[in-house]
Amino acid sequence: MADDALRAAFDELRGRLIEAGHLIPCGVDGVYGKSAEYERVWAGVGAAASRLAAPDGPVLCSFPPLLPRVTFDKVEYVRNFPHLSGPMFSFRGDDRAHAELIRRLDEGQPYADLLQQTDVAFTPACCYPVYSTLTKAVPPGGIVFEHHSYCFRHEPSPDPMRMQAFRMWENVRVATPDDVLDWRSTWLSRFAELFDRLGLDARTDIASDPFFGRAGRLMAQGQRAYQLKIEFLVPVFGESEPTACASVNYHLSHFGELFDIRTADGDAAHSACAAVGSDRCVVALFQRYGMETDTWPSSVRAVLWP
Ligand SMILES: [Zn+2]
Repeated sequence: MADDALRAAFDELRGRLIEAGHLIPCGVDGVYGKSAEYERVWAGVGAAASRLAAPDGPVLCSFPPLLPRVTFDKVEYVRNFPHLSGPMFSFRGDDRAHAELIRRLDEGQPYADLLQQTDVAFTPACCYPVYSTLTKAVPPGGIVFEHHSYCFRHEPSPDPMRMQAFRMWENVRVATPDDVLDWRSTWLSRFAELFDRLGLDARTDIASDPFFGRAGRLMAQGQRAYQLKIEFLVPVFGESEPTACASVNYHLSHFGELFDIRTADGDAAHSACAAVGSDRCVVALFQRYGMETDTWPSSVRAVLWP
């Protein structure tokens, strides 16, 4: 699709979501308030994913959308995705610096140079906090966590599928390579079933994360070559521009080594995560079935609100 046509499609869908009150614009692309009905659909998507996860007995946990800076640096987010990153800055100056800050604010001048980096960053994916807290041996059979939270990526866009502040639902498996690979193939089937029941026409593709720059292209090639990331793509804006609404990611022993997480036999644990872009699923459902959930097919409503 040509850029102009795609932009028109973004504006059209976003306009309808705003007109229906489901998205409440906040003045910057990709940051929205949500209607109660939007939130009801969002909760339904998460609950449907949780029902698929239930046989694994995941440990439910909750983290704020902030990562300690040490973790943020350790997972090399700024190194690999500087353009998407959200390190947090605040003011630590004295009275004189404060007076200068106020002068700049009064004059509408930039003031970023008066701020300093804090010990936290916005989390870009909801599995990072989990690995960083697992610095010991996992029990025999490994472990599964379930986590649902806001994430941030600096990616301002008129595309309502691509928010800067968005929610992800994840299950994270940390175990031996065989157990992790079995779990990954189970989730490929579960997500296929979920999208099928929601009528969202998802297809899978081998994908890579949007690594930055020339070095990043090599990393992306490696990720694709080893099929580490498999996305479920939904054609919200047509078959040629599908949007990833879920993914299954295999990290080999990357996080096991980084955070010294061991399996019962003492080897570095392998890990994988099954992630649903829950806000993207909500927008895709409104696009597919219209702005009034009362008129959605009963089969879809039964998946969200059984
Ligand atoms: Zn993840």
